[in-house]
Amino acid sequence: ILDVGGKGVIIGAEVVVKSLKSQGVDLMFGVVGIPITPIAIACRRNGVKYIGMRNEQAASYAAGAAGYMLGKPAACLVVSGPGLIHGLAGIGNAWVNNWPMILISGCEEFNQDQMGAFQAGPQEKTVNPFVKFSGRPASVERIPYFIEKACRVSVYGRPGPTFVSIAANLISGQIQESKLVYPPQYAPPPRSLADPVFVEKAVSAILSAKRPLIIVGKGAAYARAEHESLQIVEETQIPFLPTPMGKGVIPDDHPLSIAPARSLALKADVILLLGARLNWQMHYGSGVRFDPHVKFIQIDICPEELGNNVQPYVALFGDLSSVISQLLTSLRREKYRLNQPQWTDSLKARVQVNVIKQNAKLAVDKNPMSYERVFKDVRDVLPRDCILVSEGANTMDIGRTILPNFEARSRLDAGTWGTMGVGMGFAIAAAIVHPNKKIVAVEGDSAFGFSSAELEAACRHNLNICVIIINNNGVYRGETNVPPDIYDAPPTSLTANAHYELIADAFGGKGFFVNTYQELLPTLKEAMSLTVPTVVNVMILPNSEGREADHSKL
Ligand code: ADP
Repeated sequence: ILDVGGKGVIIGAEVVVKSLKSQGVDLMFGVVGIPITPIAIACRRNGVKYIGMRNEQAASYAAGAAGYMLGKPAACLVVSGPGLIHGLAGIGNAWVNNWPMILISGCEEFNQDQMGAFQAGPQEKTVNPFVKFSGRPASVERIPYFIEKACRVSVYGRPGPTFVSIAANLISGQIQESKLVYPPQYAPPPRSLADPVFVEKAVSAILSAKRPLIIVGKGAAYARAEHESLQIVEETQIPFLPTPMGKGVIPDDHPLSIAPARSLALKADVILLLGARLNWQMHYGSGVRFDPHVKFIQIDICPEELGNNVQPYVALFGDLSSVISQLLTSLRREKYRLNQPQWTDSLKARVQVNVIKQNAKLAVDKNPMSYERVFKDVRDVLPRDCILVSEGANTMDIGRTILPNFEARSRLDAGTWGTMGVGMGFAIAAAIVHPNKKIVAVEGDSAFGFSSAELEAACRHNLNICVIIINNNGVYRGETNVPPDIYDAPPTSLTANAHYELIADAFGGKGFFVNTYQELLPTLKEAMSLTVPTVVNVMILPNSEGREADHSKL
């Protein structure tokens, strides 16, 4: 398709891929079809890895997660119309989580505009609420400029998704390569410092704090601020609380992590927010969970975020690593080190009490198993450097408190939207980005079902993924016996005792079915030792006590 007679003539599809490559984008997820297939074909010969997925939803989730892990956009390739609509799922998810990615779709030929062409639709209009940039180049020569802008804009300032739609006649359009100009690769995002006056105001709040707390969010993970985050925690000795995906920026087993004492920790009088928003996950920064006089020190790269829901005591607008370094310079000058034994001791005491309570739940050897009993063994087989994917309402909420993270960007979960169905796309992205790591996806049975066909893509690429399904026969909870008339069953119930593990066998992976706690640990060990995709389908008590209504917990 691409060989159009030599003599330096290439087609638009190849220009798209060369443009991406020249901007440092070397990873693309997608689903091929008319007219975009030549773009996927052009990937291999231009050094861009193309991962063919089974649904654009999972492909777009994968591109967003890859962007988060890599700190640069990955591409998602979709056909127009229905492909674009499916891909919108990942665009929305990347938008709300502030992850870079570039969505590339085909669209109708220019001269078929408004004629009811094949899969034509209002593409930019559909995508625009969720993207930082969208555009449709008018000629093959303009493609490199659009791609450069889409890549640059996705990582400058607050990261986010961008969109370029390419008309079918440009994808197949021929051009003398010598006529093309590829803009240089975008320079790394500029890093800005915070206003020094505000830095001093923040430092004075920290100096006078009796109960200071640091909250580490996934913005710190994206910003690659793990070194500075650890430095400020260790030098100041201020205890820290990670948000769900902030877990691992500082290892969960750090002595200053007081995650198990979250409720008490939120009673802090000064809270330093490192890359976390005061949204629903943080109870909007006010109300009974907080001290009414709490002073927030908010650091963010997005000025529009500063002051959302609560007016911070001080707002530090700038790049996280740089601003933490500014704070550290002043704190060092003041020789600051937290000396409030009462605060730290009470937090540590609460941690101990809560850990003892939790351990008691983990230790209940009973069949059918509880969530906690399953997570005890999962925790014990997780490699320290694995990437943990987690989704499903109870599976994710309960799992978060038991399954540890030790490295930045090592946890991928339902995120700011609580999006279910992201797991398989995320796991595939993680396995491609980290080919030497074990990827462990801990999935509720309902969450897994959104994208279970993506196991085919995982097997086809021979990815080192272990999917552990926590199967309670339903959404939130299921039934042991489904009533004879299916319409009498609660809407939360799914097929009882479904053998999801057989899907792995169908594609060349390996499936395991676990019914009892006695089988669990040896089975998990065997599954984890394999490098082909594995699925361990673990049955638990169908109406196992979960937290159906309580997603407001970190
Ligand atoms: P969490 O879900 O962990 O609470 P959020 O996604 O709500 O985290 O918040 C992350 C915040 O981090 C966003 O407001 C985003 O603008 C911010 N952020 C992202 N990159 C940087 C950076 N380099 N410097 C400072 N803030 C950043």
